[in-house]
Amino acid sequence: MRLRHTLPWKEPQLGGLRARCLRRVLRHHCPQCGLGALFDRWAHLRERCNHCGLIYRREDGAELGSMYLSATVSQLFAAAVFVLLWLFTDWTPWIGFAVGTPIVLAFCYGFLPLSMALWTAVEYLTDVASGEWWAKPR
Ligand SMILES: [Zn+2]
Repeated sequence: MRLRHTLPWKEPQLGGLRARCLRRVLRHHCPQCGLGALFDRWAHLRERCNHCGLIYRREDGAELGSMYLSATVSQLFAAAVFVLLWLFTDWTPWIGFAVGTPIVLAFCYGFLPLSMALWTAVEYLTDVASGEWWAKPR
């Protein structure tokens, strides 16, 4: 409880910051300033923001969270696709597999940058809530 009072950001301030960060990363912009680009090409996170200098990839393994997020969402999507194919078609399992697999793979490929962007925001917000000196919300 004492730690909570020493943090520079109170919960109501974090709520507004969360929404702002979410909007920024959904546009593939820096969660801190909203001006710098997150990616330099498809699903390749920049080392740091080219506007405010926020480091996106601070350590090895920092992208593990985005991998778990991507895997979880992709598995849920795959399950939904195969259930829908099973419910609404009379295809054999092999035809359903042949049709569903490319759909799921395309989704995985398309979702990857979004999962990386969302995880960058999660890490940034965690740093802000922890009062890390390099996280300076704007
Ligand atoms: Zn920035």
